[in-house]
Amino acid sequence: MNLMPEFRLHRPQTLEEAVRLKTGLPGARFVGGGTDLLVNLRRGLGEPSDLIDLGAVTELGAVRHVEGALWLGAGVTLAELAQHPEIVDAYPAVAQAARAVAGPTHRAAATLGGNLCQDTRCIFYNQSDWWREGNGFCLKYKGDKCHVVVKSDRCYATYHGDLAPALMVLDAEAVIAGTQSARRIALSELYREDGAAYLTLGAGEALAAVVLPPPGGRRAAYAKARVRDAVDFPLAGVAAALRREGDVIGELRVAISGTNSAPLMVPTAELAGRPWNDEAAAALALALRKTANPLRTTVTAPKYRRRAIQGMTRRLVDGLWNDARGG
Ligand SMILES: Cc1cc2nc3c(=O)[nH]c(=O)nc-3n(C[C@H](O)[C@H](O)[C@H](O)COP(=O)(O)OP(=O)(O)OC[C@H]3O[C@@H](n4cnc5c(N)ncnc54)[C@H](O)[C@@H]3O)c2cc1C
Repeated sequence: MNLMPEFRLHRPQTLEEAVRLKTGLPGARFVGGGTDLLVNLRRGLGEPSDLIDLGAVTELGAVRHVEGALWLGAGVTLAELAQHPEIVDAYPAVAQAARAVAGPTHRAAATLGGNLCQDTRCIFYNQSDWWREGNGFCLKYKGDKCHVVVKSDRCYATYHGDLAPALMVLDAEAVIAGTQSARRIALSELYREDGAAYLTLGAGEALAAVVLPPPGGRRAAYAKARVRDAVDFPLAGVAAALRREGDVIGELRVAISGTNSAPLMVPTAELAGRPWNDEAAAALALALRKTANPLRTTVTAPKYRRRAIQGMTRRLVDGLWNDARGG
């Protein structure tokens, strides 16, 4: 680990002040709980001139109702999300995903905003400075070559966040604050498939909140595969939300993490109106194979991650289908 680089620390009291600061300081980074960013800075991954701590912005720290939807402030901690009675009751997959992040001390500090905006990861990137230098650095930071896909023009580092897929299958939206206005987009649009530029946020923008519409008869769940069950990123993570209409699928939404440079929705529209059986499961497996692209970005082999996501998805949808039988 390196020493922390020199930086100026700002602690704005309002969101407006936070985005104004960020817009005026091109080298600045926001800090939520710091459990992702500070670890990376200690590894020499970035030298921001300024850190803008969002911890004193009280408007980011609330869970509230707005016109029938549930607004989760970007500053809400994962420990709060995991045990908030309304989330546990109406959106259990979100509480489940929050509980699955890292360990209890991380979750006490880590925020929703930081979880969604966390950096992408790769075995050629999450290394000490001297290790990376010995390897000629890489396309994501300081280098000009991707060691995972050598003849590539983009970085293939992987997005390993747990919460994004669980929120995406529930049709969550992201509220993004800028100096002039706020905008609202589907959460999946916060991301792009480029490990070095994986967020679509503008330079002065902050993620302010996530909006969850009413669950509307959907049942959802999240599963992840990891090396150490106590504290680990997903090697592959999958969320599914199902609305069963009698003997057929009313709606099935599936999203994945840990396999690509962004959390992705798996196309499932063709499954609506069909019963959930081996044929439907084979169609979903094919869609998963076409969407998930695990590469050599983790110590665990891509082949294992590909199989794990297939197995977890089948088990997850089987469970939701059977649970929904009771109404
Ligand atoms: C040992 C270990 C295990 C971990 N395991 C997991 C795991 O299992 N699953 C998982 O998902 N993560 C894991 N993490 C990563 C991290 O702890 C979590 O993702 C955590 O939720 C990050 O939240 P934070 O508030 O601490 O983020 P921070 O470190 O504060 O920020 C992360 C990034 O988000 C940006 N950011 C923060 N808030 C905002 C905002 N409101 N608007 C715009 N940008 C913002 C920051 O600038 C930074 O780039 C692990 C980390 C460690 C060290």
